[in-house]
Amino acid sequence: MSETKSEAREYVQPVIKAEELDPKFKYKMSKLHGAEKVMVCFQCGTCTADCPIARFSEFYRPRRIARMVQLGLKDRLLLDKALWLCSSCFTCVDHCPQGVEIAGIVRVLRNMAVADKNILPLVYKELATNLMKGGFVYEIPESRLQKRVEQGLPPLPKPNVKDVVKIFEVTGSAGLLEKVQTFAKVESK
Ligand code: SF4
Ligand code: SF4
Repeated sequence: MSETKSEAREYVQPVIKAEELDPKFKYKMSKLHGAEKVMVCFQCGTCTADCPIARFSEFYRPRRIARMVQLGLKDRLLLDKALWLCSSCFTCVDHCPQGVEIAGIVRVLRNMAVADKNILPLVYKELATNLMKGGFVYEIPESRLQKRVEQGLPPLPKPNVKDVVKIFEVTGSAGLLEKVQTFAKVESK
């Protein structure tokens, strides 16, 4: 994707106020696994040009995420629902000439969004709840199981739900899922 008309739209943003900038944020980020190289991004735009989500989105731009981290626009990043559009395909990681791991940066930011802002897309909560209840992220209907038998496929392994629940409890994820605020639609502010 060339960065032409739709790329230009990303600059139509509210004015950045000086008090929004956290100069320490990029240092904090670069200590976290996956985001270590955020400061060496030189804004070439390769990640945005090759990102399959940016190709179909008016507002999701991985290059912009890297720049916002460098500028210290922490709150804007964490509250931007577009953060949850990344599909973690790692194309940007493979293609970045600086070795910046945008997918890792997005993961770190998402974790912060949940921890600091207490927000999560509804679909993530639903998948995690399914996992905790039944050991699979999707509830598998009886008809699908029957189809496996008809196709001669082996039965699915039985999940150890007790252990899964324990992991959710020990890591604090169970309590977090209970109190987290959800939103249904992923869009830019
Ligand atoms: S490809 Fe790498 S260096 Fe280029 S804008 Fe994206 S993160 Fe920055
Ligand atoms: S990992 Fe995310 S940001 Fe990177 S190319 Fe894939 S969808 Fe785009």
